[in-house]
Amino acid sequence: MYSFALECPTTLAEALKQTASGGQVLAGGQTLIAALNQRLAQPETLVNLSQVSELRGVRVEGTELVIGAMTRHAEVAAHAEVRRLLPALAHLADGIGDKQVRAMGTLGGSVANNDPAACYPSALLALGATVVTDRRRIAADDFFQGLYATALQPGELVTAVRFPQVQRAAYAKFRQPASRFALVGVFVAQTAAGVRVAITGAGNGVFRHAGLEAALTRSFMPEAVDGVAIDASTLNADLHASAAYRAQLIRVQTRRAVQHAAKQAKG
Ligand SMILES: Cc1cc2nc3c(=O)[nH]c(=O)nc-3n(C[C@H](O)[C@H](O)[C@H](O)COP(=O)(O)OP(=O)(O)OC[C@H]3O[C@@H](n4cnc5c(N)ncnc54)[C@H](O)[C@@H]3O)c2cc1C
Repeated sequence: MYSFALECPTTLAEALKQTASGGQVLAGGQTLIAALNQRLAQPETLVNLSQVSELRGVRVEGTELVIGAMTRHAEVAAHAEVRRLLPALAHLADGIGDKQVRAMGTLGGSVANNDPAACYPSALLALGATVVTDRRRIAADDFFQGLYATALQPGELVTAVRFPQVQRAAYAKFRQPASRFALVGVFVAQTAAGVRVAITGAGNGVFRHAGLEAALTRSFMPEAVDGVAIDASTLNADLHASAAYRAQLIRVQTRRAVQHAAKQAKG
């Protein structure tokens, strides 16, 4: 470790002042602390958001579930309104990492970091969520821009995510057993406008699959996945899995997600 200043603001306004003068925000620290240890990041000032209570919590606004950026994964997993209105999101949060990661890691940190194997980005993209920042609202379709890249500008803070309610949804993750990130994770959402399918872990970043969406919009049944072509040439290949294996996992995990969602009553 090396020396840096640590700011601990208690209001968003204070935090924004500190980030405007060059501080980097620290959320749950599950990624950032490791990056500091390895000197992949060397900020002079860290702005710890953990005492900014206005960034934390879950509320229902009309038909949307609004979750503060500093809400920990364990809080999302256990929250009664999330479990009632978007059980697939609670299930996803409950399957992130291990107990310690879920106790510390935050929704905002996960979304801002946009790890290509992270779970939350697939939920935001499939559900058609909106990322709220200190200066604007960004549709998930525009927010995630590939490997660790997002639409955030320097110093821009995620303050919350707004999730619309959908008819039925489910997340099926095939975990990489050592890291517990998604080797492939598929989030399926049936909405009034059709089915949305978002895939994480398989490519350079989270992405939607037009073929799966069209097939499942026609018939929301696991068998509908079977005839859909999954192009392995654009998928990751590494020591954990070949691109062909990931393509097969996309098919299997999509079937599982649809099977699970189809059991839910249509909302
Ligand atoms: C062992 C392990 C297993 C994991 N398994 C999974 C898994 O299965 N699935 C999964 O999805 N994730 C997994 N994670 C990731 C973890 O859940 C966190 O989501 C992730 O580390 C980032 O969140 P954080 O709150 O810790 O952010 P931090 O590490 O504090 O910050 C990450 C980055 O985001 C920036 N940032 C943080 N908050 C904001 C904000 N509000 N606005 C703008 N920028 C911000 C920081 O400056 C930093 O650059 C795992 C992590 C570990 C260590």
